Amino acid sequence: MYKSFLIKYGEIAIKGKNRYLFEEALVRQIRYALAGADGTFEVRRLQGRIYVDAKDYDYDEVLEALSHVFGIVGICPVVLTEDAGFDALVRDVTAYVDQAYPDKNRTFKVHARRARKNYPMDSMELNAALGEKLLEAFPKLRVDVHHPDILLCVEIREKINIYSVEIPGPGGMPVGTNGRAMLLLSGGIDSPVAGYMIAKRGVAIDAVYFHAPPYTSERAKQKVVDLARIVSRYAGPIRLHIVNFTEIQLQIYEKCPHAELTIIMRRYMMKIAEHFAKEDHCLGLVTGESIGQVASQTMQSLAATNAVCTLPVYRPLIGFDKKEIIDISEKIDAYETSILPFEDCCTIFVAKHPVTKPNLRVIERSEQRLGEAIDALVKTAVETAETVCVEAGEG
Ligand code: ATP
Ligand code: MG
Repeated sequence: MYKSFLIKYGEIAIKGKNRYLFEEALVRQIRYALAGADGTFEVRRLQGRIYVDAKDYDYDEVLEALSHVFGIVGICPVVLTEDAGFDALVRDVTAYVDQAYPDKNRTFKVHARRARKNYPMDSMELNAALGEKLLEAFPKLRVDVHHPDILLCVEIREKINIYSVEIPGPGGMPVGTNGRAMLLLSGGIDSPVAGYMIAKRGVAIDAVYFHAPPYTSERAKQKVVDLARIVSRYAGPIRLHIVNFTEIQLQIYEKCPHAELTIIMRRYMMKIAEHFAKEDHCLGLVTGESIGQVASQTMQSLAATNAVCTLPVYRPLIGFDKKEIIDISEKIDAYETSILPFEDCCTIFVAKHPVTKPNLRVIERSEQRLGEAIDALVKTAVETAETVCVEAGEG
């Protein structure tokens, strides 16, 4: 019955030039989301609205795809008809109600809007006249102007838009409207959620993953690629840098106090992530840290990690409990993958009693033991990193 979807977005927040950028990005993300769905789709902007025209498609699949596009507030399956006079409009509206609501024992209200001012009837007249015709056609229908079961929207535009269903979208801002950030993506539960959260604010993401072969396996790496793909359903294509961290970790393990291993390791991860961030024109780093979750995420530990960064570090989960993070992880279909039991580079070289209140001076002094050798190892790690472009719909 529906050949088109009307896409509603938060129009109030965007004015002037920004509106154009917002809409362009939204159209781009809608096309990206629909690329994996069966059917033919045309996404177009018309007079401050976005329409998706669809052919040979599956209704649920389209809604599922659009539910991943940030910036969409509502999705309305819509019938578009030519303006061929009032009688034709009555016919179209009646046919719409007949098909959309086989059971007529419901209340309704017509909500007409005359966006094209040369239309001979105003919205009040349309509400009354169409309401009357519907009551005549379907005696079981009743009018309820306060809480109708069916809010029948009839908008007189270039074409006439008839719709009554609005499926909520994910909200947020279209990816690409707020710059780019570098996500430190591990195989855990938190960092994919952090990537999702930052993308929701319109930020495009690239990612960096540190592995430690042969201590971590090919399957552990594949799991991170899979997680990147899950995040990319929302965030768009992700350039994933895979860094071999083994030599750096071994060096730290050999030279530094074991209680400080995790903090020092984190600091090197941040430094290397920042290198790639600058290369990819990212405006910040993103991690899945949340205050107090583990020893390396106390306020003191976060401060010590942060001290090596010159870019801002965004931690979208900072105030979340694990339970809240898991809820989002499940919602975005990442959880099942995140909990696969593969080894992580951080869990292999972990101390029994890590410092929970590291002192920055002490940490810096410990790092001096790494000498100049560590710079060469960092350089090699950067140079030998493998970069893959991960997109939704593959694999
Ligand atoms: P996650 O579930 O995201 O792994 P976590 O609770 O296991 O988080 P940590 O292992 O302390 O927490 O890691 C904190 C953050 O550091 C992660 O959220 C991630 O952003 C980053 N990080 C940790 N390990 C790696 C890694 N191997 N590669 C890239 N980033 C990592
Ligand atoms: Mg982890």
